[in-house]
Amino acid sequence: MQLHNTFSGRKEDFVPGDPERVTMYVCGPTVYSYAHIGNARPAVVFDVLARVLRRRFARVEYVRNITDIDDKINKAAAEQGVGIEVITQRFAAAYHEDLEALGVAPPDVEPRVTEHLPDIIAMIERLVAKGHAYEAEGHVLFNVTSFEDYGKLSKRDRREMVAGARVEVAPYKKDPADFVLWKPSSEEQPGWDSPWGRGRPGWHIECSAMSAALLGETIDIHGGGHDLVFPHHENERAQSCCAHGAQYVRYWVHNGFLNVNSEKMSKSLGNVLLVRDLLAQAPGEVVRLALLTGHYRHPLDWNDDTLPRTRKQLDRLYGALRDVADVEAEDIEPPEAFVAALEDDLNTPAALAELFELARALNKAGDDAERARLKGQLLAASKLLGFLGQSPESWFAGDTSDLGAEQIENLIAARDAARKAKDFAEADRLRDEITALGVTIEDSPQGTRWRME
Ligand code: AMP
Ligand code: ZN
Repeated sequence: MQLHNTFSGRKEDFVPGDPERVTMYVCGPTVYSYAHIGNARPAVVFDVLARVLRRRFARVEYVRNITDIDDKINKAAAEQGVGIEVITQRFAAAYHEDLEALGVAPPDVEPRVTEHLPDIIAMIERLVAKGHAYEAEGHVLFNVTSFEDYGKLSKRDRREMVAGARVEVAPYKKDPADFVLWKPSSEEQPGWDSPWGRGRPGWHIECSAMSAALLGETIDIHGGGHDLVFPHHENERAQSCCAHGAQYVRYWVHNGFLNVNSEKMSKSLGNVLLVRDLLAQAPGEVVRLALLTGHYRHPLDWNDDTLPRTRKQLDRLYGALRDVADVEAEDIEPPEAFVAALEDDLNTPAALAELFELARALNKAGDDAERARLKGQLLAASKLLGFLGQSPESWFAGDTSDLGAEQIENLIAARDAARKAKDFAEADRLRDEITALGVTIEDSPQGTRWRME
């Protein structure tokens, strides 16, 4: 198996530290609002990576955290006049609902920062004791000049780092790039007792502390969106290497960004697509497939065509299955080329091409033995990627209801118009189209009535 490592900048053979226990940590969401489709991308990508790893290795430990201490959470809680736990519970639950709909399996452990304050504080104390961190005006800061390797992951020079991180140039900092490990809380702000007074952790330290507590000082894979390379992962790496004197991560894996109509999603542009809004338009499998059609490292463009186009692709897969409903699938492994594509740095476009090829071959299969084999392969390959979990009947039935009443009404109106214009051929064609959607229509003096079959 090969994985692209952000640290080396190239594809490498994946060799875990201990093949008996493969460890993976992925930075999860900050829970103060609903997840957008960009947030869903790492969740789906690393879900697929976990599935591929689990196929090859007997034991995989996958940790994805929930960030439930953050100033954006504090702001939302203050605005709504509730405690932060009200906000974090609400949006963690919403996140779980969204991911379940996308067929994302839960990670093995999902730690929350509020459960790990003793680990965080102990790690900061260690960094202070070793001379990598210092206290200044109620803050504890990591001193980047104490770590020679600083900048090696993101490959930035010092000036770029300060500009890129928009770090606060506070007078108490020894170096402008020094970053916060702990900061003081005012009485109104959420805070926890610490050797440096009541306060709260900075963002980066949580992942260093939680990954060490749950997976050990050196982990095999660390993942997240590529916006996290700097400063978040650069800083995690500095903290962990300095606290433990050991390698932190063997393979750094980052997904590319998802854009909407070739633009970065942003509140100011008003183009933020929430997962739950997309799930109102299409089944979760469609959204999941759309996220996997591009290679995980490349940018992915989401536009108006994405859902209808992807739905048709799934129709093809389910259609191929429906045609062989009476054939018993062979209990068989996915085809080698399919697995090889996934093990080649998670090349989902190539793997999906194999999947569609299987569906094509199944449509053309000459005898039942071949059909049984191809059906088995199609199901096994789809299962590995998290697809075709329902029966073709329920897929196509769901498809009709998801089409929405509006679309059906539009077809009926078009048929009525054709009949009025005495274009009976067109009216018949539209009737067939409507019937094919599983809708029964009845003409009455009051107009055309319809119902689902
Ligand atoms: P956040 O809650 O902002 O920390 O983001 C959670 C995860 O989503 C992180 O791994 C981010 O890198 C990732 N992410 C955020 N926006 C996008 C996007 N537009 N495309 C892909 N990944 C994203
Ligand atoms: Zn993190």
